[in-house]
Amino acid sequence: MTKQVKIGKINIGGGNQIAIQSMTNTPTQDIDKTVQQILDLEKAGCDIVRVAVLDKKDAKAISDIKLCIHIPLVADIHFDYLLALEAIKNGADKIRINPSNIGSEEKVLKIIDCAKSYQTSMRIGVNSGSIDKVFLKKYPDKTDALVNSLLSEVAFFEKNAFDNLVLSIKSSSVKETVEANRIISKLTSYPLHIGVTEAGVPEIGLIKNSIGIGSLLLEGIGDTLRVSLTCNPIEEVYAAKKILTACEKPIKGINFISCPTCGRCQVDMVKYASLIYEKIKNINTKMTVAVMGCAVNGPGEAQSADIGIAFGTDKALLFKNGKIVCSLPLENIVDTFVNTVFDTALSLTK
Ligand code: SF4
Repeated sequence: MTKQVKIGKINIGGGNQIAIQSMTNTPTQDIDKTVQQILDLEKAGCDIVRVAVLDKKDAKAISDIKLCIHIPLVADIHFDYLLALEAIKNGADKIRINPSNIGSEEKVLKIIDCAKSYQTSMRIGVNSGSIDKVFLKKYPDKTDALVNSLLSEVAFFEKNAFDNLVLSIKSSSVKETVEANRIISKLTSYPLHIGVTEAGVPEIGLIKNSIGIGSLLLEGIGDTLRVSLTCNPIEEVYAAKKILTACEKPIKGINFISCPTCGRCQVDMVKYASLIYEKIKNINTKMTVAVMGCAVNGPGEAQSADIGIAFGTDKALLFKNGKIVCSLPLENIVDTFVNTVFDTALSLTK
C-alpha cells in the first residue's frame, strides 16, 4: 500500500478512495472565471483541482479563489521557484513542479524549505515531453529514462528530508506510461498520480486514457488520476468517473450496461438506450443499470445489475438483480424506467 499524503482536506494514497483531478483552462488571475469553472468541476465530481501559475498575479489569486471553492487546489508551476514560494504562501494545498526545469538544486531546496514550513505537499514528476536530456542520453530506452529521472528526483527530496510527495510519471505513449508506472510502483511507496499525458481530442484521448489508466487501476496502481483531454475539463471528470466505474473502483455513479443489439432485437434499441442513459447518467449513486435488447439474454447478461430492462416486441421486462420483476408497456417506457431507476437509487442511498 502507498503512503498517505494530505492535500487540503483530502487524503490520497494509503488505500483512500482514488481522487479525480482536472485542471482549469481559464487565466488563473481571472478569479471570477476560474472560480466558476472550479465550481462546475466540483459539481461534476472533481475531487482536486489544479490551476496554472504563470506569474505573480496568478500566485496571489490562489488565496481569493480558495475562499470560494470547496475542493483542494494545486498550483502548477514551471521554471520560476519564486512562483512556487508565492503559491505556497497563498495557501495552495499542493504544488506541482518538475524539478528539472526549476533551474538549480538551490532553487528546488528553497521550495522544499517553504513547503516544509507550510506543510504543503508536492507532486514531482516527469513527462515524456520534458525529460532531462541527460537521462535520455544515458538510457536509450524511454521508459528507463523516465523511471531513472524520477528516481533521481525522489532521491534528492529524500536526501533533504522531504517525503510529503506524490509522484507522476507520464508519457504520451500508453505503453510507456503503463510500464513506467508499474516499475515506479514497485520501487517507491509514494502515492501515484496516473494518466496518459497529451492524450489528444476525446475521440482518441478517451481510448488512450482508458487503456493506460484502466490497465494500471486493474493492477491496483494509482491513487489519483487525471484524464488528460483536449476539451472542456468537465469532460475529463466525467471520463475519469467512467474509467473508475469500469474498473470497479469504489465511486459514486452509474455503471451503465447496454447490449450491442442484434437481429433478435425488435425495437429501436440504440434510441432507447441513448435516451435512458442521457437521463440517468448524472445519478450519484453507486449502481449498475442494464438496458438489454431482448428477454432471451437480457436477464442473464445483466445478472450483476441492480436494475435493468429487457425489451420485447410490445412490452419490456423489468428485472432487479438479474430476476424478472414485472412487464411494462412500451408506451412511455423511457420515463417509466427512468423513474424506477431514480427510485432504486434513492433506496440504495438510504
Ligand atoms: S440482449 Fe438480445 S438483442 Fe441484445 S445483443 Fe443480446 S441477444 Fe441480441
